[in-house]
Amino acid sequence: MTLEEARKRINELRDLIRYHNYRYYVLDAPEISDAEYDRLLRELKELEERFPELKSPDSPTEQVGAKPLGQPLGYLEATFRPIRHPTRMYSLDNAFTLEEVRAFEERIERALGRKGPFAYVVEHKVDGLSVNLYYEEGVLVWGATRGDGETGEEVTQNLLTIPTIPRRLKGVPERLEVRGEVYMPIEAFLRLNEELEEKGEKIFKNPRNAAAGSLRQKDPRIAAKRGLRATFYALGLGLEEANLRTQHELLLWLKEKGFPVEHGFTRAVGVEGVEAVYREWLKERQNLPFEADGVVVKLDDLSLWRELGYTARAPRFAIAYKFPAEEKETRLVQVVFQVGRTGRVTPVGILEPVFIEGSEVSRVTLHNESYIEELDVRIGDWVLVHKAGGVIPEVLRVLKERRTGEEKPILWPENCPECGHRLIKEGKVHRCPNPLCPAKRFEALRHYASRKAMDIGGLGEKLIEKLLEKGLVKDVADLYRLRKEDLLGLERMGEKSAQNLLRQIEESKSRGLERLLYALGLPGVGEVLARNLAARFGTMERLLQASLEELLEVEEVGELTAKGILETLRDPAFRDLVHRLKEAGVEMEAKERGGEALKGLSFVITGELSRPREEVKALLRRLGAKVTDSVSRKTGYLVVGEAPGSKLEKARSLGVPILTEEELYRLIEERTGKRLETLAS
Ligand code: AMP
Ligand code: ZN
Repeated sequence: MTLEEARKRINELRDLIRYHNYRYYVLDAPEISDAEYDRLLRELKELEERFPELKSPDSPTEQVGAKPLGQPLGYLEATFRPIRHPTRMYSLDNAFTLEEVRAFEERIERALGRKGPFAYVVEHKVDGLSVNLYYEEGVLVWGATRGDGETGEEVTQNLLTIPTIPRRLKGVPERLEVRGEVYMPIEAFLRLNEELEEKGEKIFKNPRNAAAGSLRQKDPRIAAKRGLRATFYALGLGLEEANLRTQHELLLWLKEKGFPVEHGFTRAVGVEGVEAVYREWLKERQNLPFEADGVVVKLDDLSLWRELGYTARAPRFAIAYKFPAEEKETRLVQVVFQVGRTGRVTPVGILEPVFIEGSEVSRVTLHNESYIEELDVRIGDWVLVHKAGGVIPEVLRVLKERRTGEEKPILWPENCPECGHRLIKEGKVHRCPNPLCPAKRFEALRHYASRKAMDIGGLGEKLIEKLLEKGLVKDVADLYRLRKEDLLGLERMGEKSAQNLLRQIEESKSRGLERLLYALGLPGVGEVLARNLAARFGTMERLLQASLEELLEVEEVGELTAKGILETLRDPAFRDLVHRLKEAGVEMEAKERGGEALKGLSFVITGELSRPREEVKALLRRLGAKVTDSVSRKTGYLVVGEAPGSKLEKARSLGVPILTEEELYRLIEERTGKRLETLAS
């Protein structure tokens, strides 16, 4: 082995070992056996012994003993050490009106001495934090925040909790900087705040702050539970070498290299073309999975970028065209208290109605006691209100300078506003403990019937109220016992609508475990978690037996959520409800059998298996894995049957983990929580 070959292999091994350390210690989801891991480590040690000039203090072999006793090998905290970006990171200039976009194009015309219109690429401006990833010879070396543009903070360990960030690249410039945005999807953000609210803790103001806070966690295991995502749109070093002509090509290149380009982009010609896209995206804004505060307009032709260059702060070839962000002053006239499905009491501010970005705003959530304390808001106060993300009304601040002294503090009720039961206080959370509280029942039914849950369209709020009033239903299981005669007895319920409703209720039985879990409103469980739980456990029966450890293994389930779920699962009332739903014929199995339990993994098969190879391949694919025919460095596992071919040698030389057929099936059963027989068909 030459020195050069050794260097290559050593780098490969270090990278592999760091990756597996990370799977093991941070994600708690090892991909290879201990023996396999030891083999990699031994090989690295031996090579470093033979080629001492290649030793390095940051090799995983050197980390033994470097950490305090009891701390696992290679468990790495985020360091936040300062990192100088190889090339500067810029901000963007803003435009708030069409005129300002015109002025932007005119500046370009003057600088280039050429008339427009020019071709642009328009991208969503994702509201997150910009980051810089640095790759050497296709291997991710570090990732850092933008900081002041010249120097940022290293956040590699936390960035690696984002599953879509590639660690290795093929066919890229030797030194490469890839830039993009780390963000928290709105659903993850709402879930995180829901958790914090249940605990009575301070909530994050917006997804951007939540993303920043999560990326700045010292312990990547916490960051890993926060569901961060990333999207990439620019290159620093390596841009010239990549030989690209346009921004459009650049985005496609990033995609092809395996980077998530999730923010969407389109081409447009001239200011009018840009305006058309802007208008359309403004309308679509509330349907995006992330918060966008505008669009980014970039000249498509990269050769023009070189001609135009940068100001001290921002490129001259791009501009952020911001969405309107109206802020209005109004008065808080009253606070009412709402009781939710979990019995938690939420204060809602009643405002003197104001018009913001096209619709009337008259209610705003005040979340909880800490939020009110922090905001220091009183009844009668003038407040500044906007729509977060263009959708959710929010108090920005209290205009204390306008206080008259007549304002009154917000007092929490002692008793439940719905049932009169005495409220209990858990930390800062006020809760109605009465299991028969009608507010809980109403909310539970409404949520159960909602579109993303069991989708019983005919069961509106009015009808739910009537059904509760007449005592026809007490909980969701009672829905399945409704008869046509019951419904016809209600006012304004005709033969036809009764029939429709009963049909919808019948249809709701077969929505599958994913939807059912969401519909039952387990604490902290939104659509995504419901899907993850269903994928992991497969059946309600299996879920009911889950341990805390097993729940914690589920993607994006944090400690608090896990405990809350477990408590509910053990609750006799919940078990009884599930039992009655089952009796009624409600399906309790996951629809996507095994869901995407193997998503992100890739397999190659060699040799003869005990089952037809095509069947195994189909199963792996059904579970979300990739199956290919030849081994490369990117291969996740080689599955080895009887009389394996040359792929085995190749996999060994590349350090690709190897599984026997048995081990493969064990992996599948562990990941899906199901027996192989029930999966294969
Ligand atoms: P600002 O933070 O207001 O200075 O806006 C500039 C920032 O917008 C950049 O530094 C990026 O973090 C962010 N950004 C979001 N989406 C994009 C995008 N598609 N292209 C460029 N920058 C973006
Ligand atoms: Zn109550």
